[in-house]
Amino acid sequence: MQTLFLKSENKEDMIKAAAIIKDGGLVAFPTETVYGLGADALDAEASAKIYSAKGRPSDNPLIVHIAETAAVENLASEVPDKAKTLMEAFWPGPLTIILKKKTCVPDTTTGGLQTVAIRMPSHPAALELIRKSGCYIAAPSANTSGRPSPTTAEHVAEDMTGRIDAIIDGGPVGIGIESTIVDLSEGAPTILRPGFITKKMLEDMIGEVKIDPALENPDSTARPKAPGMRYTHYAPKGELTIVESSIKSGGELYDDYRMLDDIPDPSGGSAPSTASVINAINDIASNALIDGHRVAILTTEENADCFEAGHVITVGSASDGGTVAARLYAALRECDAYGADIILSEAFAGTDLSGAIMNRLIKAAGHRVIMV
Ligand code: AMP
Ligand code: MG
Repeated sequence: MQTLFLKSENKEDMIKAAAIIKDGGLVAFPTETVYGLGADALDAEASAKIYSAKGRPSDNPLIVHIAETAAVENLASEVPDKAKTLMEAFWPGPLTIILKKKTCVPDTTTGGLQTVAIRMPSHPAALELIRKSGCYIAAPSANTSGRPSPTTAEHVAEDMTGRIDAIIDGGPVGIGIESTIVDLSEGAPTILRPGFITKKMLEDMIGEVKIDPALENPDSTARPKAPGMRYTHYAPKGELTIVESSIKSGGELYDDYRMLDDIPDPSGGSAPSTASVINAINDIASNALIDGHRVAILTTEENADCFEAGHVITVGSASDGGTVAARLYAALRECDAYGADIILSEAFAGTDLSGAIMNRLIKAAGHRVIMV
């Protein structure tokens, strides 16, 4: 298949892209979180193509992207007041809401579930594509299943050239990690995937919000409600290990960014200590180099000069989770470009996005974490 390369600022390109969606084809497009791989959400055959292009397991549902809030009534059979409040507060934006589905939403779009995930993105090119196509657009991230999500059109091209009809280039995305997913289809509102919209931001609007137990204890056997969370994700080709400190900079035990509601205050000495982490990474890296490995190190601007061996890749600033989120997937892909077979990463703890960032990094590492 020939893949068209299109530009979001070119009007004719956007008309072409919309026509492809309308005709049941696949178009990758920018959103504010990551690039999505879109198809007509109400066309079972079209959304099924997404799974084969990505090599995605068929029970891993897609998110339906809409451009007007009114569309929710056409997709969901029940819309609780709390869902309306969240839509009003956070749409367009990086929040996906799970509701009971209407029968018009095909099983291929929902991975066989009776619920549907809905989001209104804020990226102008995404909104334009939805409006021009006249469709609701089902879209997971536009990467090969298991690989880091794409944050530039080049990343999409690496994975999808020849497999999809078109790629719309809208430049690098702003946020860099996928939307927060909150389940409002039954029982208490529950976060199924952490993201840029934090638990506190949701609770400020609708009161208590729970966290899927499988998220807080990634080693537990609890079955996650968001099916995609079961699979290995976001992984670079090399073996990634997270090296993490269990000691706070003040000396007490540090536990931990995984509790998504308890955000440490780095200025109060409650962030994890980094000295032991740096020493451990230097030890492991120099031994691996002696053994003939290609070693990449993922770190922050603040610590970038502390490493003696290996290819150092700076992800962002330790004090600004937004910069880490924006660079994380590109950094994982850079490890591949370098040909690293061993990758060592600090834990990016201590900011209000740490829960969302570490959720991705731990999966990318296949849960390989060394505590020092
Ligand atoms: P991606 O955008 O690539 O992360 O893919 C969308 C993700 O949304 C999936 O991996 C699922 O975890 C989640 N998702 C989509 N629909 C549902 C649903 N009905 N219930 C729970 N999670 C969902
Ligand atoms: Mg994905």
